Amino acid sequence: MTLEWIAPLQARTPLCWINPALRGASNVLPSLRLRPQDISAAADLLQRWAPVLAHLFPELDAAGGLIESPLLELKPAERIVGPGIDGAVLLKADHMLPVAGSIKARGGVYEVLTLADRLAREHNVPLTDGANRYHPDLRKQCERYTVSVASTGNLGLSIGIISSALGFRAKVHMSRIAKEWKKARLRHRGVEVIEHDGDFSQAAAAGRAQATSPWDYFVDDEASEHLFLGYSVAAQRLQAQLERRHIRPGPQRPLFVYLPCGVGGAPGGITFGLKQLFGDHVHCFLAEPCAAPAMLAALAAPDRGLSVYDIGLDNLTEADGLAVPRASRLVVELVHELVSGVMTIEDDMLFRYVHRLDRWAGCQVEPSAAAAMTGPGLLCHTDAGRGYLARHGLSGQMGQAVHVLWTTGGSFVPQDELDGFIARGRQIETAAGR
Ligand SMILES: *Cc1c(COP(=O)(O)O)cnc(C)c1O
Repeated sequence: MTLEWIAPLQARTPLCWINPALRGASNVLPSLRLRPQDISAAADLLQRWAPVLAHLFPELDAAGGLIESPLLELKPAERIVGPGIDGAVLLKADHMLPVAGSIKARGGVYEVLTLADRLAREHNVPLTDGANRYHPDLRKQCERYTVSVASTGNLGLSIGIISSALGFRAKVHMSRIAKEWKKARLRHRGVEVIEHDGDFSQAAAAGRAQATSPWDYFVDDEASEHLFLGYSVAAQRLQAQLERRHIRPGPQRPLFVYLPCGVGGAPGGITFGLKQLFGDHVHCFLAEPCAAPAMLAALAAPDRGLSVYDIGLDNLTEADGLAVPRASRLVVELVHELVSGVMTIEDDMLFRYVHRLDRWAGCQVEPSAAAAMTGPGLLCHTDAGRGYLARHGLSGQMGQAVHVLWTTGGSFVPQDELDGFIARGRQIETAAGR
């Protein structure tokens, strides 16, 4: 076992790490325990529940009850991602996702809906009444259950908001250092917030241990297939948005997608969905903070179950949505041969991109959501990245390439906090002479 990747991680050097286990999608996908039908079933469930969501969340009315974000073009992209990036650069703007204000709206809402959907079937209650409103009898069934979750913040927001809207009691376990505004926002919605000393994994263990009655439902961010599948539906939605721009990934049109990664559910689920649709024409790169490269550690040493502490890192980063010491084993098992690589980013760069996105694209994102922004530069300007392109026969195709940068959260962050992030980024940018 070679561990040559450990030294730069320990030095917190931003990396473009290429996954040696990547294999052709058509060889990998048939052997996985989740299938394309599972994604379709998740998409169908979200469609069936759309009228209920449109009733419970008026902001979804225009979209017919579907939770979705726009695909934006960054133009000129150079101001944001730097020089020398050929092809189109697009932003998948999940920082604007309604209901929860982050990518967690995809997985979290879906998982809680699967529970409500099961109750509807078990008790033979329709989802809506005659006027297309959430059925009061179904709400009564939901009121008997408590949904709980452990979260660094955004998953707690998503689960708390959808659970309380459907009538469930909701409990969110958070580490004490989680942002105060997230706790306040949840309490305001009647969600019980339980604070724990220690990091996310410890809060998760405590939450899991407390949810033991048959009336408890625990959303397990470190092992949930439902979350994974809820996220995977984003792939079909992206495909439709690319179609609208006449973009069809293929041999002459490589698609590169860069996804901020915490435990791996969101980026892993989306990777799984994209690989089903585009096979080897899509290249998925995950992005992690230098202080918490949990997925990189898991992929680089598959049998060791390493946490970021094991390699001498502290998991302390302003990217609170990504500050997890250990990746989800479920996700690693599903995507370890589908992910092209992992890129790491320093906190200072996160803030600089928060500033640039605000200044040049009018997008206000939280630091976690900017983690993928160095992706195209690392791919096109490092030896590791160029080697990847050459091995895949892509060096000559980059003029036609499409880069999709996923921005994963921000619209629920209070304005004064956002202003603080942006100001901090502007300062760092100025000091760096740019
Ligand atoms: C949770 C989160 C992610 C990553 O999702 P995981 O499922 O934890 O990998 C990325 N960005 C933001 C803003 C998040 O809250």
